[in-house]
Amino acid sequence: MPSNDVMPGGERPQPDWILELTEQLPGVIFQLHRAPDGRMHFPYLAGSGTQLTGIDRGDLAQNALPALERLAETDYPRLMAAIERSARWQSPITTKFRLRMADDRLSWIALRAQPRKVDTGVLWYGMMIDISEQMAEEQRLRRLSDTDDLTGVANRRKLMQRLDEEISLSNRHALPLSLMMLDLDHFKSINDTWGHLQGDQVLRDLARLCREMLREEDLVARLGGEEFALLLPLTPEPHCRQLAERLRERIADHDFGIGPGRITVSIGIAEHRIGDSRETLIHRADDSLYAAKHGGRNQVMVGS
Ligand code: GH3
Ligand code: MG
Ligand code: MG
Repeated sequence: MPSNDVMPGGERPQPDWILELTEQLPGVIFQLHRAPDGRMHFPYLAGSGTQLTGIDRGDLAQNALPALERLAETDYPRLMAAIERSARWQSPITTKFRLRMADDRLSWIALRAQPRKVDTGVLWYGMMIDISEQMAEEQRLRRLSDTDDLTGVANRRKLMQRLDEEISLSNRHALPLSLMMLDLDHFKSINDTWGHLQGDQVLRDLARLCREMLREEDLVARLGGEEFALLLPLTPEPHCRQLAERLRERIADHDFGIGPGRITVSIGIAEHRIGDSRETLIHRADDSLYAAKHGGRNQVMVGS
């Protein structure tokens, strides 16, 4: 076959067994052609996955646009850039994107394609496969590795990662950022009196109370033991202090299953200053927490 032999799919005769084989594939194999003016079409497209999008295969043989229009908004420029790079450097495309299916669901599609220069532009030989299940599993595992087993809030690893992200944003754009360290008061005696299982339940309830009082973009993390950290992006210290005070009161009034007024917390606050490292910020919040403990517990202290 000459390299510029780019014909709409279906016009080239194929033996029945090849037709049957390609139609049974649990994915899509294709040729994608791009003309010098940027127009793209699929000269060849086969496989069981081609029915999923509800786009007519004959239309795609003339113009790839109906398929490209189904891409998730943020994935469109990314895929176009990958195609451009591949054409320029004659390097393979290895990417994944989300595509809107006929039932309006977004599916994750993995794409591999090899470019070849032809007289009429660039012709890719490639395949696509639906990887939505693998992506869901990956997401589940990522969530597990970021989550504290006992309480379901973020773990220390996740907190450190978010701290790095938020501190970097804060340094770059001078955005306010506050950190609260929260530690249960005399928790050892709660365990001693009510038992470890009841203690665990207190930790779970406390994590839930914190989550309920914060915004979606705030992060609640269990640092370990009976100590939690609350990271509040776009929050200056006075707002953080008000919130901490409300949280402290709410916890002190709450009945954790052992009668109200038995559980209290001490909270230390530090606001990020431009140039602060993660360790500096944590250290200042820890110092405030220490001061709150020494000040008599069941109180909020702000770093100087
Ligand atoms: P302070 O007011 O100074 O913080 O006193 P405290 O008793 O809370 O502090 P201390 O560090 O002496 O003891 C912490 C206790 O927290 C010890 C341990 O029994 C309890 N603890 C730590 N992790 C867990 C947990 O996962 N489950 C339960 N139930 N208890 C825990
Ligand atoms: Mg404690
Ligand atoms: Mg502690």
